[in-house]
Amino acid sequence: MTLAPDVATMVRARLRDIPDFPRPGIVFKDISPVLADPASFRAVVDGLALQALASGADILAGIEARGFLLAAAAAYATGRGVVPLRKPGKLPGETLDQSYSLEYGQSSLHVQVDALQAGTKVLIVDDVLATGGTAVAARTLVTRTGAHAAGLAVLLELEFLGGRRRVGDMPVTALLTE
Ligand code: AMP
Repeated sequence: MTLAPDVATMVRARLRDIPDFPRPGIVFKDISPVLADPASFRAVVDGLALQALASGADILAGIEARGFLLAAAAAYATGRGVVPLRKPGKLPGETLDQSYSLEYGQSSLHVQVDALQAGTKVLIVDDVLATGGTAVAARTLVTRTGAHAAGLAVLLELEFLGGRRRVGDMPVTALLTE
């Protein structure tokens, strides 16, 4: 597994801007063409997998839904397991939940109370870091299970929205920053 030197270029070439989705005024960053291209998908998964190794994570946590696609592949590539951080009403059994605001609305994330062992190091994975609300909620949720949020790895960071600052001292890595 190696970091493709041109991973940012590959992602930038295939990332699609969808204006006014899901609301007027939001430019939605559609990663579907990146995932559909074999070389780009491999470069992205390898990049995230290397972040998992560098962070010392024992396990990866993917944020619903696009984070699942990336976290699962990177977890497989590194021989680690993966835990889903889900939207309301999806997980059976006892869960912890955390409300948050994101770039285009409000939601909450849920995790099963026994999904993570105390002290486990967790790399949180998502497609886009925008305002950081989702990432902060994910971090809080992981911490509430007793595990340690070792970092956040995303495909794309929208720097102008200031998410990295909001996330605080948790290390953040992005394969492409705009
Ligand atoms: P935020 O909480 O504002 O950092 O938003 C990040 C979450 O919302 C991620 O799970 C993204 O999938 C999604 N998201 C927010 N803004 C965008 C955007 N402009 N394009 C694509 N996804 C976005």
